[in-house]
Amino acid sequence: MNKINRREFNKTLVKGVGGISIASQLPFHSLRNRFDKKSLGVALVGLGSYSRGQLAPGLLETEHCHLAGIVTGTPAKAESWSKKYNIDKENIYNYENFDQIASNKNIDIVYVVLPNAMHADFCIRAAKAGKHVICEKPMAISVAECDAIIAACNKANVKLSVGYRLQSEPYTLEVKRIVREKVFGELRYVSADAGYNSRGNPDQWRLNYALSGGGALMNMGVYAIQSAIYGSGQNPTSVSAQEFSTRPEYFKDTDEAIAAQFEFPSGAVGNIFTSHNANVNRLYSAFDKGWVELNPANNYGPLSGRRSDGEIIKFPHKRQQSLQMDDFAKHILTGSLNRAPGEMGKRDMIIVEAIYESIKKNGVKIDLNLGRLGIVE
Ligand code: NAD
Repeated sequence: MNKINRREFNKTLVKGVGGISIASQLPFHSLRNRFDKKSLGVALVGLGSYSRGQLAPGLLETEHCHLAGIVTGTPAKAESWSKKYNIDKENIYNYENFDQIASNKNIDIVYVVLPNAMHADFCIRAAKAGKHVICEKPMAISVAECDAIIAACNKANVKLSVGYRLQSEPYTLEVKRIVREKVFGELRYVSADAGYNSRGNPDQWRLNYALSGGGALMNMGVYAIQSAIYGSGQNPTSVSAQEFSTRPEYFKDTDEAIAAQFEFPSGAVGNIFTSHNANVNRLYSAFDKGWVELNPANNYGPLSGRRSDGEIIKFPHKRQQSLQMDDFAKHILTGSLNRAPGEMGKRDMIIVEAIYESIKKNGVKIDLNLGRLGIVE
């Protein structure tokens, strides 16, 4: 289909095949995106530090998508972003009139970059508006919300992805390859840490349970869960967890630090640690005949990797967010792999809920029944 030119394709559309119009058999947005557009328009919802520092600059470096619109509750930000990124007034929305984005043909993808408890509402509204959706991590604050987002996207026939930038990141993909190809034999143990020392404003939304849905585990723990899964190539079959608190006066509402132990179907075991009180950032996978380590493993890069045979893992640095957004745009345009589908975000939320349940029950082992849910090669 790529080989025929646009005029020929339009003719085919009108004529149809065997008297049936092809156009009538395809959803409008997939038709438009696949054949009329090379670069998809992205609207960022929420212009906080991640949108400002990473996603908007990242969209200047993407090939298959670009910054086309913004959704903000702050008129001053609308003004300054409009100037800085040359965004037309017709592509600027606030949280109230956001649903009108449905009729805006410049916007193909809505990227929700709001506090965690607001993800589900805006992702569902974006799907109802007929837009493809990227939802920042953690996907939502409960499994039920993840299910609702997935259902809304399926119903609207739009694509959905979670903002797991590392799923498009070369060092991470190399670890996946080493695990998949059993370069060092069978995996026996995986260890994954993700955390930072939070000393900032105690009123920030990340420390407010109603907006965050949880503390270190919701924010950084999903990276450790992700690492343990791609560092082993398997979903865990059970989890036991413990919570640690050393600064209760600061972490009044949310968890400060959590450790959890996984069992995997192969018999391998894993350990994760996540914290808002310690700078930890590492993935280590131990196999029968060697090991691989990323340290750091989950910041914006460049990451750094080593192997037990002395080889250094080294890739040229590219902005992770550009790789991630281009991968999702290519998925929409060509049907290539969705590296971080909604099912992956939901799986991680099942594990998050099981970890909280284990802590509530004093570390008891919680069985997980995940099969291959959310595993993407
Ligand atoms: P932030 O606090 O810097 O920005 C939040 C934005 O939401 C602001 O523009 C704020 O005005 C808006 N907002 C709307 N209603 C709000 C409310 N009731 N309370 C607070 N803010 C409100 O946060 P951020 O760091 O940009 O994080 C946003 C999302 O992106 C979170 O889900 C976070 O987990 C995710 N994130 C992901 C990465 C990554 O590497 N993938 C990195 C940072 C943040």
